[in-house]
Amino acid sequence: MTAAQNKIKVGVLGFGGLGQAAAKVLAPKQEMILVAAADHKGYAYDRLGLDADICGKIYQEKDSLGYLEPHGMLSNNSIQDLLEKADVDGYFLALPNLPNTFMASVAQQFIDAGWRGVLVDALKRTSAMEQVLEMREALQKAGITYMTGCGATPGLLTAVAAIAAQSYAEIHDITITFGVGIANWEAYRATIREDIAHLPGFDVEKARAMSDAEVESFLDKTEGIITLEKMEHADDIMLELAGICSRDRVTVGGVVDTRNAKKPLSTNVKVTGRTFEGKTSTHRFTLGDETSMAANVCGPAFGYLKAGVSLYRRGLYGLFTAAEIMPQFVK
Ligand code: NAD
Repeated sequence: MTAAQNKIKVGVLGFGGLGQAAAKVLAPKQEMILVAAADHKGYAYDRLGLDADICGKIYQEKDSLGYLEPHGMLSNNSIQDLLEKADVDGYFLALPNLPNTFMASVAQQFIDAGWRGVLVDALKRTSAMEQVLEMREALQKAGITYMTGCGATPGLLTAVAAIAAQSYAEIHDITITFGVGIANWEAYRATIREDIAHLPGFDVEKARAMSDAEVESFLDKTEGIITLEKMEHADDIMLELAGICSRDRVTVGGVVDTRNAKKPLSTNVKVTGRTFEGKTSTHRFTLGDETSMAANVCGPAFGYLKAGVSLYRRGLYGLFTAAEIMPQFVK
């Protein structure tokens, strides 16, 4: 067996900001190899491995991996074509969830194709995750191990909250506050559109319909800053499902600076509860300011993909959230 055959074969669907970062995160790994990637106009597949830098260059120059020579293919149905063709153990779904039903429809596509393996998403909205949760039984029957909410928030910070909760007899409040700094909004178009969709006066459909010029002129008015409060974020339903607390005790908000790579505030989670002795206390966990959104999303996504592969190999299929499974560190 060659070294490539021993590795977990990974595909990345969506090759925008997170997809390209995901390819770079995988590049030095010994336990995983990127073999497949797709965007909205094409895909690339090489069972011996795709080069993250070359893929990134092609995507930035030509707007699709379909132009990659000799392993690219242009397609208007790239996800379907790739999943039928590629031998992949697990996919990271770095896709925009626009419309709000898109991720659930992609999961359905995998089920309908009779595909088996591990899927990992970094879904954000509660209502989007509810659609995926409804597919639990269908995923199980299909032989798919689906890990949902496995980015930063939801994801890393939700898992931290689930662990921090263990000190308490009762949880009063979980507050997640994120700071994101990106130098240029166009590197993360879907993330920014989906964030705008949370603002008063906007919804998913309105944000989806905005042209790039409209997003830009909106950001001009706010000097590039998006301030988000009491978001509809799936951390709440994940913590409720994990039995930590009811969803109304979970609050998520944050500040995104779309013109500066420096974080406008330190991302943190606070978990307040009552101990068995009757004391009220708060645990605080703060991410290092030097860690980017991409590092805090893609790292956990692959940690959960590795965990998903070990569940899959033990015959455990269905749906799992980042709050109920420990991610495994990928070497
Ligand atoms: P992006 O806009 O930079 O890139 C999206 C990519 O998906 C592009 O390559 C595009 O070509 C591709 N795509 C779009 N439609 C497609 C289709 N039908 N078939 C195949 N490919 C398609 O997106 P991004 O900013 O990297 O964000 C990706 C997702 O990650 C968003 O939904 C965002 O909300 C989510 N996200 C989650 C977290 C978290 O912590 N959970 C954090 C940040 C972003």
